[in-house]
Amino acid sequence: MDISFENVSKVYRKGAKALDDVSLHIPSGVFGLLGPNGAGKSTLMKIAATLIEATSGRIKVGGFELPKEQHEVRRILGYLPQEFGLFNNLTAYEMMDYVAIMKGMQDNVKRRAEIERLLEWVNLTDVHKRRVGSFSGGMKQRLAIAQALLNEPKLLILDEPTAGLDPEERMRFRNLLNRISADRVVILSTHIVSDVAAGCQRLAVLNRGRIMLQGEVEDLKRCAEGMVWEAEVPSHTDIEALPDAVTVSSRRDGDRLYLRLLAKQPPLADARPADPGLEDGYMALITGMNGGDAR
Ligand code: ADP
Repeated sequence: MDISFENVSKVYRKGAKALDDVSLHIPSGVFGLLGPNGAGKSTLMKIAATLIEATSGRIKVGGFELPKEQHEVRRILGYLPQEFGLFNNLTAYEMMDYVAIMKGMQDNVKRRAEIERLLEWVNLTDVHKRRVGSFSGGMKQRLAIAQALLNEPKLLILDEPTAGLDPEERMRFRNLLNRISADRVVILSTHIVSDVAAGCQRLAVLNRGRIMLQGEVEDLKRCAEGMVWEAEVPSHTDIEALPDAVTVSSRRDGDRLYLRLLAKQPPLADARPADPGLEDGYMALITGMNGGDAR
């Protein structure tokens, strides 16, 4: 099971070029698609999920060609869209039942067993008779994941699945993700770097419709090699004024400011070099600090 995009572009009717010559191979396992808002992630995911068509290029999902064989792809697909219109007046069980029927699960006994198994899996068995409208953000998100998993999809697309979750819910979600078996393709699209840190074997970074990098987690870190600095300055220091440096993070403690910076040269006299992390590599790529030659 794998997905390939070859020279895929998408121009929306209103003129925005959302994808610009994207070539990307996604093998089985958990794949992180990382990029800032507006990068084109949802557009790419909607194309793979057969909701929209590319303007040009070739797309193959599990051996099926899109858009020609979209019916075959829909049969193996689970999709968690960025905006999930949950059915607030239905109970959790009714909502699962509805989606299962839409997915063609006709056998009543099997459908029921599958719904019960998934509700248990996302820890919602106790509240299966409650209306979805009364759920917390985290509960809704777990239900949304459960519905995407109905009918054992070989391709699971999760578009910004941790948006709106608090840190604890986000952790629970990551644990869930790690338990999804690896013989399928799971695409996790997100703008949150730490979402891909834990569970993704491979990843790609998309920015302004273009693939900036595809590889492993370590490859992303390497984009900031030799450019990461830590420094401590008085808290009134104007960090915007540092020449040719990008601030990855800053933490104020009393009258001191602790900085993590990207720069080709030491950005401050007493800056100490540091090992690059994922966030550093991502910032280096997105800001063009690494020279933009990581393709
Ligand atoms: P992301 O998911 O990474 O935030 P999107 O794929 O949603 O990015 O958007 C990529 C670009 O395409 C943005 O500039 C966005 O404004 C534009 N875009 C998205 N959907 C549409 C649409 N239906 N019509 C016109 N432009 C769109």
